[in-house]
Amino acid sequence: MNSMIKTSFRSLAVVAALALLAPGTRAQAPRSWIIVGADVADGSGSGLRRVNVRVVNDRIVSVGSGGPQSGDAVVAGTGKVVAPGFIDIHNHSADELANDPAAATQVAQGITTAVVGPDGGSPWPIGEYLTARRTSPAALNVAAFAGHATIRRVVMGDDFKRPARPEEVARMATLLDQAMREGAVGLSSGLEYEVGGYAETSELVELSKVAARYGGVYMSHIRDEADKSFEAFREAIAIGERAGIAVQISHIKLGTVGVWHKAAEAIALIEAARTRGVDITADEYPYNAWSSTITVLVPDKRYDYPPSVERALADVGGAANVLIVRHAAHPEYEFKTLDAVAKSKSMTAVEMFIQIVKDGGAGVVCTSMVDDDMRAFYQRPWVMVASDGGIGARHPRGAGTFPRVLGKYVRDERWLTLPEAIRKMTSAPADRLKLADRGRIVAGGIADLVMFDAKTVIDRSTFSDPGILPTGIEKVFVGGELVWDSGKPVDARPGKVLMSGRAPSVRQGSYRRVPDWGPGITIDSAGAEIR
Ligand SMILES: [Zn+2]
Repeated sequence: MNSMIKTSFRSLAVVAALALLAPGTRAQAPRSWIIVGADVADGSGSGLRRVNVRVVNDRIVSVGSGGPQSGDAVVAGTGKVVAPGFIDIHNHSADELANDPAAATQVAQGITTAVVGPDGGSPWPIGEYLTARRTSPAALNVAAFAGHATIRRVVMGDDFKRPARPEEVARMATLLDQAMREGAVGLSSGLEYEVGGYAETSELVELSKVAARYGGVYMSHIRDEADKSFEAFREAIAIGERAGIAVQISHIKLGTVGVWHKAAEAIALIEAARTRGVDITADEYPYNAWSSTITVLVPDKRYDYPPSVERALADVGGAANVLIVRHAAHPEYEFKTLDAVAKSKSMTAVEMFIQIVKDGGAGVVCTSMVDDDMRAFYQRPWVMVASDGGIGARHPRGAGTFPRVLGKYVRDERWLTLPEAIRKMTSAPADRLKLADRGRIVAGGIADLVMFDAKTVIDRSTFSDPGILPTGIEKVFVGGELVWDSGKPVDARPGKVLMSGRAPSVRQGSYRRVPDWGPGITIDSAGAEIR
């Protein structure tokens, strides 16, 4: 392990006292290095600046024209962009971090913090999970949401297909309170899924009030991403309003023919709420296809009723848009479309769908979003970049999200400027979760950094081969330690458990002041605006 760190670090150092890098001596001697000559996107959204970034141990100590000091290792940054490490606010690596602490598919994208526990499903108990991550750290940092469905199952067991009774909601609130004390950053929900879908709005409001007391966020895979998207947006807004909590709409999308090209209306609805003081934001992954369970396609949950299934398939533009990626009963269906499998069995797509659900269901990737909606959302300042992926994801977003935004949507299609895209990956999620000292390149900040080539960075993962690593992300540092170097993971595990700062602020109890995330305006961890 030590030799790997030394070798990879030597390759980038002009002068490095290698002894300083040996873990055994780390505590005694400061470890200092400097990135020289790079164009720095500091995370605030303001323009690139050619400045040097000097780091001692885990902290950035200066950002400016100062050169190397004696003993500094020097990282040549000429021609590269240096940004804060990416914070993935919707990441599904919770379970896999234990088995794959190097997390190459994540770190290779420049992700330095994975926020796990989205969509209503989280590790439980949160405290135990976070303790395990502290005991066996990964290459990258981790923060966790407490999952609404997870808590609901603890309280209701298998009897969850109904609204919860008041005493059950009270019990859930107690468990959530415990999770928040143990370090959860908020409450996540997955209202399009089996367990969470039976919750009434009032249940979510009561639980959100608990998370709000700790400055937590209510982050939701909303109740519908199809024809009833607008009702679902309204419910998320109402929860924010009634509970006085910050709301994050997960992977915002308009996923059926009936709502395509309505991004402007969705934006107007959400921005009207923001204007009247609801602190609501969103995130989006850069793909026009979603990945979930096959049953999600049928909003009325009548999976064996042919007219419902037929309508569901029509809503996404037909069975040729549904790719089966996981089906335990018939692995030979995997990576074929529902249309192709049905034809091979001489069945209709509707019959095939019903059979697959009977055989245990399937994971699917469904092409059902249009580019102009995706672009419109990304161009709003309150929409962040998140993967909804993670280690082992069967969707290319698991290994490609951040390089894809930088390569395809910034460089090639010019949907966003580079500094603005970086802000959506760094300070925006850091501020959302009140993660102290992360998400910006400033003196005193933690040295979670990514260095990449803006001319070449691109994703390479595909729907049929979702694990292929991207190119162009050259070096990734977590807490000042190199974890990714020139296409390879470094055997280092500096990842920390991150919890919300929860600093008392001028905004505490007053969610009505919504940060204006315009370019050049940054929000510090206590919530005050700084220009
Ligand atoms: Zn989701």
